[in-house]
Amino acid sequence: MKAWQWQAPEKLRLVELPRPVPKRNEALIRVEAVGVCGSDIHYFLEGAIGENRLTAPTVLGHEYAGIVEELGADADPALLGKRVAVEPGIPCRRCEWCRKGRYNLCTSLFFPGGPGSDGAVCEYIAVDHEFCFPVPGTMSAGTAAMVEPAAVAVHTAELAQLRPGDTAAIFGLGVIGLLTARMLQCCGAARVLAADILPYRVEAARLYGIQEVFCNRKGSIKEGGASAVGWIQEMTERRGVDVAFDCTNSADGLALACAAARRGGRVVLTGISGNEMDPLPVSIARRRELCLQWCRRFVHNYPATLDYIQSGKLDVDSLITHVFSFDEAPDAFALTSAYGDGVLKASIEW
Ligand SMILES: [Zn+2]
Ligand SMILES: [Zn+2]
Repeated sequence: MKAWQWQAPEKLRLVELPRPVPKRNEALIRVEAVGVCGSDIHYFLEGAIGENRLTAPTVLGHEYAGIVEELGADADPALLGKRVAVEPGIPCRRCEWCRKGRYNLCTSLFFPGGPGSDGAVCEYIAVDHEFCFPVPGTMSAGTAAMVEPAAVAVHTAELAQLRPGDTAAIFGLGVIGLLTARMLQCCGAARVLAADILPYRVEAARLYGIQEVFCNRKGSIKEGGASAVGWIQEMTERRGVDVAFDCTNSADGLALACAAARRGGRVVLTGISGNEMDPLPVSIARRRELCLQWCRRFVHNYPATLDYIQSGKLDVDSLITHVFSFDEAPDAFALTSAYGDGVLKASIEW
């Protein structure tokens, strides 16, 4: 089968790999769509996310959907021929965290498109059948691949422990930031204030129904990124928001979110900074007695996420700004990494 393999920073090459044979509990998926994620871009550009480093050629991509073409002997026969959204992280089911139901924290989680495991920018992938979620016949493969980032937003909203009437601030208006904003609206947030450094993303947020948005032209606190915090403080009469979210890919998101949170407030960190050691605004966090909550992907969220999308409450389609063919896959990575042409989600479909 054909696959796009990452070989060095900014270099993907089309290669032939053996077509996987499904194990007893696996489904063989003919991949139809893969979304390019911010985490893929860290690998694409730097070959690493923090301490997780690609040391061998690797197929990237974990946001995918496709048709079940073959099944192992123990896999659910009802899946055959179905279009499925695939939950990409496959846990061991045996470690303490798996047994406690927190399988996103599994000590030996298999995750495609990272060190040691090929991802989905290829023709076929074999995956544990229990992590294949059939989607309605009317749902396109591109939409089904969006269940993955949407599930991150659903989990982020859960971790926020929002109460009706709470106010929220979001830094970073990429796909995760926008979906999180929509989820907070679904969960009863009284107000969602949001900021990004890119004017086109601020505009995209308005079109997506987030009315109170701010563009801080420089992200870092030193360079004036605090202007977004000043705006939030002004909008909340210097109280700060109940919950602040970092949905950026930089260390600054954490600092900004802490600065925007109220006393005793909560900060949820969903963005993936590429640094292993991010600076933390310790005196603000301590004086305000902030509760910092990191988010690790999703857990048990796929069915609920599919419901949110199907019911129209969580719009994912308008976030797919660019569609590339399989042959054009490197262009999808290049566009996303350059923040080119108003890109939110670049989807590779074949
Ligand atoms: Zn992703
Ligand atoms: Zn485990």
